[in-house]
Amino acid sequence: MSWAAIVGQPLAVRLLRQAVAGKKVAHAYLFVGPAGVGKRTLALELAKSLNCQAPRPDGGACDACVACRKTAADPILHPDVRLIAPEGRFIKTDQIRALQEEMYARPNEGRMRVAIIDGADRMNPESANRLLKLLEEPPGYAVLILLTHNLSGVLPTLISRCQVVNFPPLSPEDVARMLQAQHGLDAGQARLYAALSGGSIGRAVALSQDAGVAARRDQTCDLLQKLSTLDDLALIGQAEALDKEKEHLEDWLDLATTWLRDALVLAQTGSTQLVMNADRLPSVRGLADSLGTASILDMLSAIVETRGHLQRNANSRLALDVLMLRLGDISGNRR
Ligand SMILES: [Zn+2]
Repeated sequence: MSWAAIVGQPLAVRLLRQAVAGKKVAHAYLFVGPAGVGKRTLALELAKSLNCQAPRPDGGACDACVACRKTAADPILHPDVRLIAPEGRFIKTDQIRALQEEMYARPNEGRMRVAIIDGADRMNPESANRLLKLLEEPPGYAVLILLTHNLSGVLPTLISRCQVVNFPPLSPEDVARMLQAQHGLDAGQARLYAALSGGSIGRAVALSQDAGVAARRDQTCDLLQKLSTLDDLALIGQAEALDKEKEHLEDWLDLATTWLRDALVLAQTGSTQLVMNADRLPSVRGLADSLGTASILDMLSAIVETRGHLQRNANSRLALDVLMLRLGDISGNRR
């Protein structure tokens, strides 16, 4: 991994790369963005570049020297690089106290002491105040990198001491590329899980390894295929079942969207290249043939509307009842 190898966060990479190259690295950064978009990866890359023994001309880490390898090891073996994450629900006072002592001691092997604090929103007041003291009077060789996906949970006085770097969700294309290159998924699967990931490579990887998702994917397709055979009572029953598994509701909407989108692509272009459920081509073809383009478009807009209602905290059961009845209607269910 080097600056150039980091996918999907061009602005953050440029900012940090310039800071290192220009020797203008701040004493404290706060990386803000959803889980699984590269905050920790980039923090480790910064740590590597600060202690690399043979940095590249652009200030990037060489990835080959002892310091780089010790920093890249999991767990980290470099004595001057520390990664702290919540033990249990919170980052404990003892963890920050130990960090304080460590950060005020001169580096052992490297030029800088680097602390990465993952979960900066999960500190009790005492931990946060101890960390604040460190941020107020950092030794010259200290760099602290705070990570959070929940900015509103970080103490404002901490935020004010840090240079804030935003990490937006990754594009589906970037997630798909990473799934293929780093996790060995084929193109179809990579597109599928990228579409379900909400721009988080971490979530995409977790979903791709979750057997429950694979099962829900097939169930979703089955349901879309049999909509026209269900009467209103059965449709309401489906809505009830979905509402009971609220934690998977978002997944279900995403999955239904990928199936319908695939059917649309196939119906419109006849090409299978862009199909996400490429390992289920007969099912995609079945949907495309039985529904037709106009119905698929109507179903997609019904799902988009429902998603909007749910995001605005509408009554989920009511929103799902309406969705199922509409989907049944569009597919021409028997009444
Ligand atoms: Zn190196």
